[in-house]
Amino acid sequence: MLKIAIQKSGRLSEKSLELIAEAGVNIANSDRKLVAQASNFPVELLYLRDDDIPQCVYDGVADVGVVGENVLLEAGYALDVVERLGFGKCRMSLAIPKSEKYDGVAWFGGRKIATSYPKILQDFLDKHGVQAAIHHISGSVEISTGIGIADAIFDIVSSGSTLISNGLKEVDVALHSEAVMVGKKATLGQDKTAILEKLLFRLHAVQKGKQNKYVMLNAPAASVEKITAVIPGMKSPTVVPLAQEGWCSVHSVLPEGQIWEIIDRLHGLGAQGILVIPIEKMIL
Ligand code: ATP
Ligand code: ZN
Repeated sequence: MLKIAIQKSGRLSEKSLELIAEAGVNIANSDRKLVAQASNFPVELLYLRDDDIPQCVYDGVADVGVVGENVLLEAGYALDVVERLGFGKCRMSLAIPKSEKYDGVAWFGGRKIATSYPKILQDFLDKHGVQAAIHHISGSVEISTGIGIADAIFDIVSSGSTLISNGLKEVDVALHSEAVMVGKKATLGQDKTAILEKLLFRLHAVQKGKQNKYVMLNAPAASVEKITAVIPGMKSPTVVPLAQEGWCSVHSVLPEGQIWEIIDRLHGLGAQGILVIPIEKMIL
């Protein structure tokens, strides 16, 4: 049984559950008690506060956990990042009152910075050889400068609108964060490692599917060579003759990000009836 810790309720919860579901794992009771077992896979979910996840994994209460890199780095436990998950993206930035003139990180020398992330901030300041006083508060960091308890703040930023509405400007980014799956690979053991690998194999198949599209089109036989040169496919494209003489159907798999550009070229080469179809899972 592989025990996976995810955030009980918050910004990462839905996406974490989605991930588990995409791997074909059925979680029977979704009312998020502390623990839930999968009905069709040797997996147990632990619903926790995100701040508790790194320690639970480190102590072996859970085998792996899904958590923001920001929380992981702040907790400071030596855990392996098993997989980067691509959701929960945010950045950790320094911000100062917008009236201040900023001339680089040296500005923070001798100043007082309020944050809920003292460790990440200290590491950033050390890296830049800046000495500043860190004021650790657990919430509402953005109002610190307004009420006079700090000269600057260090906090999570996504759109930046919270900063603006508090009269602040973002001046430096210390970390780009996303949700990651963490674990202790070395002590996981054979059985759990096998379950984890099976889970990751499935997740990769779903991820790859999302990154690609299945494309079908009709092409005049005379243009097939040029058209297949534009759409290389996984191995090579499938080309089948149509009932109507002189025409072929060409099928291939193309990267999502290039679809429109490729379609323009295919159009130019005389392709017709172009269909772009989502791929649910892709195993190479
Ligand atoms: P918990 O109750 O579990 O302690 P929380 O309030 O500490 O939850 P959330 O606000 O749900 O945490 O955020 C969880 C994670 O989502 C953050 O640690 C961060 O990695 C990520 N995240 C992504 N965008 C944002 C954002 N705009 N603000 C805050 N966190 C964000
Ligand atoms: Zn939290």
